Amino acid sequence: MSLDKLKIRLADIANINHAASVLGWDQRTYMPPAGAGARASQLGTLAKIGHDLFVSAETQDLLAAAEAGAKGLAKDADDARLLVNARRQMTKQTKVPTALIVAITETTTLTEEKWVVTRKENDFAGLAPWLGKVFDLKREYAQAIGYKARIYDALLDDFELGMTADVLDPLFEQLKAATVPLVAEIAANQNKVSDDILKRPVSEAQQEAFGVAVLKDCGYDFNRGRLDRSTHPFCTNFSCNDVRITTRYDLEWMPGSLFGCLHEMGHALYEMGISEAYEGTPLAGGVSLGVHESQSRLWENLVGRSKGFWRHYFPKLQKAFAPTFNDVTLEGFYKAINAAAPSLIRVEADEVTYNLHIILRYEMEQEILERKLSIADAPGRWNEKMQKYLGLTPPTDREGILQDIHWPGGGIGYFPTYTLGNILATQLFEAAGRAMPGLEGDIAGANFAGLRKWLEENVHVHGSKYPPGELIQRATGSPLRVEPYLAYLKGKYGEIYEL
Ligand code: ZN
Repeated sequence: MSLDKLKIRLADIANINHAASVLGWDQRTYMPPAGAGARASQLGTLAKIGHDLFVSAETQDLLAAAEAGAKGLAKDADDARLLVNARRQMTKQTKVPTALIVAITETTTLTEEKWVVTRKENDFAGLAPWLGKVFDLKREYAQAIGYKARIYDALLDDFELGMTADVLDPLFEQLKAATVPLVAEIAANQNKVSDDILKRPVSEAQQEAFGVAVLKDCGYDFNRGRLDRSTHPFCTNFSCNDVRITTRYDLEWMPGSLFGCLHEMGHALYEMGISEAYEGTPLAGGVSLGVHESQSRLWENLVGRSKGFWRHYFPKLQKAFAPTFNDVTLEGFYKAINAAAPSLIRVEADEVTYNLHIILRYEMEQEILERKLSIADAPGRWNEKMQKYLGLTPPTDREGILQDIHWPGGGIGYFPTYTLGNILATQLFEAAGRAMPGLEGDIAGANFAGLRKWLEENVHVHGSKYPPGELIQRATGSPLRVEPYLAYLKGKYGEIYEL
């Protein structure tokens, strides 16, 4: 049968891509520095083989034959959705001329290198021509892909399937209107909370043992995963039965490794929970970056930074790290791990201020893409918006527009997925709470099985079967909504900062 033949071909391609992922994991965990050159070449070869095999005339014929043979399938049948996803990928990958793909890959690789140097030297002018070239190429890419309303949508779709700027704009406006005054109030009440206790030294071995114990309690299966260390924590998988995470240890910032573990575990539980029957097909894997990030933020923030969680774990932490936190109260610890303050650097930002960093980037990347803002004027606009949203002006571009690798690397349209993850995490958590009225008590008793099962049944198992919008509707009974998130932020931080 033609569908079976197509599935065999797609599984071969998935195997090549997963083999590349193993090399990528190794590169970021155990590879010696001198291996970088050969590794880039190996990854390039595998990417080329995978791409060529997918867009080949043979695969195109297999897909067309499978579609012709699948006319009678119900719209929601797995195989029908599999073909929809395969066709979508095929359309996208064949619309963009190979020369443009090569130009984007080469230019972004060089621009990333340039970024490392110019960031160190605080030299935005040195990066500007390169960044301009990246935006030019991505504009060309968006034109090749095509879009209905706004050019930005073509780029956004690569990271968040089906999402458009017209949907995001009102959500982000609502978020901005509520968050900017909340951040100002928190800034005026900084004396209410201190996170100094978290700077007390804790050994790497102690941090690791505690992190592993929490991961096991939450249901991360070490028979199907492992925990290693890397400069930037990440999660990767080569099947739903081999999903690996990493974290990093800072001796004088104990929460870094633990919340890193919980965050990456959220990503991992998603991949581990996807139906095994989808392996090797376009139904495997998390459906979008936003949905993926909702899983990591849910475990990191809604579970891991909640009072109930620490009612159970704080006495255990005190014992594990004794005597370091013997004089600290549960309340003091809870406030410390939730301390919030306007800051310049996105990756160090807390739950409240984080989204303002994202909205700034979201607004600016559209202005540049639509040629309403020149690259030369971008640093000024950045600083202007930082002052408006967070009340701070970066003293240097290093702490401003030069801080992220995303734009130099071609990740234009990527940033909004972080905030989508935050919004969706709360919406899903609220829906889980409606289905399980005892959820808060369960968390306070370190009983996570119910929450895990709800997420598995409503989100994980579906893999990439349903596009994000449809998945959210099915899981929560409504489209993406920002209200639960705003209520959560106001409630939690209102209490912590006594607003
Ligand atoms: Zn993440």
